[in-house]
Amino acid sequence: MEQKKTALELVDIHKSYGTLEVLKGVSLSAGDGEVISILGSSGSGKSTLLRCINLLERPSKGRIIISGEELALESGKDGDLKASNSRQLERMRSEIGFVFQNFNLWPHKSIIDNIIEAPTQVLKLSRDEAIARAEKLLERVGLYDKRNVYPANLSGGQQQRIAIARALAMEPRVLLFDEPTSALDPELVNEVLAVMRSLAEEGRTMLIVTHEMRFAREVSNKVVFLHQGNIEESGTPEEVFDRPTSPRVRDFMASHH
Ligand code: ADP
Ligand code: MG
Repeated sequence: MEQKKTALELVDIHKSYGTLEVLKGVSLSAGDGEVISILGSSGSGKSTLLRCINLLERPSKGRIIISGEELALESGKDGDLKASNSRQLERMRSEIGFVFQNFNLWPHKSIIDNIIEAPTQVLKLSRDEAIARAEKLLERVGLYDKRNVYPANLSGGQQQRIAIARALAMEPRVLLFDEPTSALDPELVNEVLAVMRSLAEEGRTMLIVTHEMRFAREVSNKVVFLHQGNIEESGTPEEVFDRPTSPRVRDFMASHH
């Protein structure tokens, strides 16, 4: 059988803030087209782990490999790692799309300008090419008619769909989602999950931090449960949801369904 290529590999990631060790050696790998859900209580290190992948947070130790290429890291003055090669970091960052809890759209830019910013600045697409790409993505998330308005004119669900389109405009190898529906009113959650589900179905590689248990069960190939900076349990959705071996995971599932 042909081996699935690894899109993302994290090896022994550690992160401390002062004396607080938030990640204690997390290793994780996502094959091409895999969807991995990351679960765990508040404070378990989920956001920190995602943010270490593109060095929004600098890990204290560990290795990051994207599409077979290892990010070159060296010790910084403060003891955390930093990229040895800023051009490689920029290139590898452009392989990673990040969708945040609070959308993080630029408030002073129109929707279309939000989406074309990185493709024109980082990928050096022409404005016309970037607009053509953005318009296709706007159609895909059902918001083509909003292309000239500003983020404040949109609902939270619409803003998050724009944030997803903005991430896709870079044609990233891996998409990271950090609680993408946690800031939304309940009636707006499904429109965002529907877009994410369609991305999973078309074979995108995704890491999703979420508290939407039913969604995680339906779309994931693998589920990882973090506890105090360690992987407490991981496996298929059936394994982790239906027959977890860790009592902590069992308690968490019992209180989150
Ligand atoms: P989660 O996303 O699972 O809720 P986080 O990764 O946000 O958890 O946080 C893990 C731990 O790291 C928490 O104890 C949090 O208070 C701490 N932490 C996160 N960011 C910082 C920071 N910039 N400085 C100090 N502590 C932090
Ligand atoms: Mg978090």
